[in-house]
Amino acid sequence: MAQIAKVEVFHVDWGRGKSAWVRLWTDAGECGLGEASPMHNGNASLELIRTFTPHLLGADPLDVRLLQDRLFHAFIKTGPDGALAGALAAVDIALWDLKGKLLGQPIYKLLGGAWRTQLPFYASVGNNAGRSVEEVCRVVEEWMRLEPSLVKIRFDGDRTQRDRDIPGDIAKARAVRKLVGDAFPLAFDANNGYSVQGAIRVGRALEELGYAWFEEPVQHYHMESFAKVAAALDIAVAAGEQEYTLQGVKRLIEAGVEIVQPDIVKTGGFTGLMDMAVLARTYGVDLVPHQTQPSVGHRANLHFVAALAHAHYPCEYNDKSGTQDVVFTRPLGPVNGLFTLPDTPGLGLELAEAELQQRILPWRNP
Ligand code: CA
Repeated sequence: MAQIAKVEVFHVDWGRGKSAWVRLWTDAGECGLGEASPMHNGNASLELIRTFTPHLLGADPLDVRLLQDRLFHAFIKTGPDGALAGALAAVDIALWDLKGKLLGQPIYKLLGGAWRTQLPFYASVGNNAGRSVEEVCRVVEEWMRLEPSLVKIRFDGDRTQRDRDIPGDIAKARAVRKLVGDAFPLAFDANNGYSVQGAIRVGRALEELGYAWFEEPVQHYHMESFAKVAAALDIAVAAGEQEYTLQGVKRLIEAGVEIVQPDIVKTGGFTGLMDMAVLARTYGVDLVPHQTQPSVGHRANLHFVAALAHAHYPCEYNDKSGTQDVVFTRPLGPVNGLFTLPDTPGLGLELAEAELQQRILPWRNP
């Protein structure tokens, strides 16, 4: 039996931003790589993972679900949402990577097999609240060169305000529709920017413009507002990137959300997302995972979606800069609009160790 012999918790410094990663090493020198949600540099999750260390050392890395349930309940008083779920996600992804390497199989195979190993993506185009209509169109045009299967325009406005520029937002949605043509799939992400009345007004415009989904129209914690918006509109309402538990996602579904979007680096990794898939299937809603980390998180998400039945929508792809490619020997970019998963063990990510070492900032107690 392999045993976990070392837990390595660290930031990777990309110059403009940091990732929160973990490596779990076995006594035989094999390692698995995982990533936590990067919000506020993932500091809270990294500290939790450091605190998990005594629970992980000596454990069998194949005991993936056992370890997750044990850690979840041991640390539940830190709050089951947010940082704890992100810490569990990082550990879980690293354990699945390790499990794949120990068993000589890609993760999608261990999840039950791939429906597809060539995965289409959707361009997740952020920060449109601060752009003019022309700038929004220019940025979308750039993304279209990579041949996405769908484009989502995100607004990322000031979270302390709402309904700031509804006519302007609708004008941007209309301009993008005109740019890509009537048949091309589009989605609209309000980033929690509207009141109920504002959301219904925007949602009706999106229905007329043929948008596929309307994401996070209202504050994510206002289930009653979601229910009012979903009841008033025909367009599918999407949400879930700010939910971390089965119960949280269940509440969204019961409020009328038709597309749930839990995130593999926030919601307990593969183990957490597999549970979410069962939940979505039980209720007959679509699971379209949120995922905006360009390397580890993205790759983990591709494995998950490869093995997901009823994957009706493409995978999110948010950062086409290639900044993180430098620490991998064979980074994966989209070719003809598709990401092709390798059949190598685990995540199939091979680190360029010398490059990585230059960017590692080990996590310490402040
Ligand atoms: Ca979003």
